[in-house]
Amino acid sequence: MSGAIGPGSEGMNLEHIKTCVRCGLRYDWRRSSSTSLKMTYCSHLCEAGDLGFTLEALLHAEPPAKTEVEASEPETAAI
Ligand SMILES: [Zn+2]
Repeated sequence: MSGAIGPGSEGMNLEHIKTCVRCGLRYDWRRSSSTSLKMTYCSHLCEAGDLGFTLEALLHAEPPAKTEVEASEPETAAI
């Protein structure tokens, strides 16, 4: 597997440049620290500041339900 990289190294690609709707900063959305709205906010701070919360926080706001871990038990071949 040879990673054939096209022309232009991996760097600032204008296609990835977004403008933060909160602070107006131009940023590479791939590097945004925003958790859920990388393409909207430059960072989670802006996300949280604009929304008043983060979606991530919402998602984790509920107490973690008892996670059912499907333990795949090996079939006991009692033959
Ligand atoms: Zn911002």
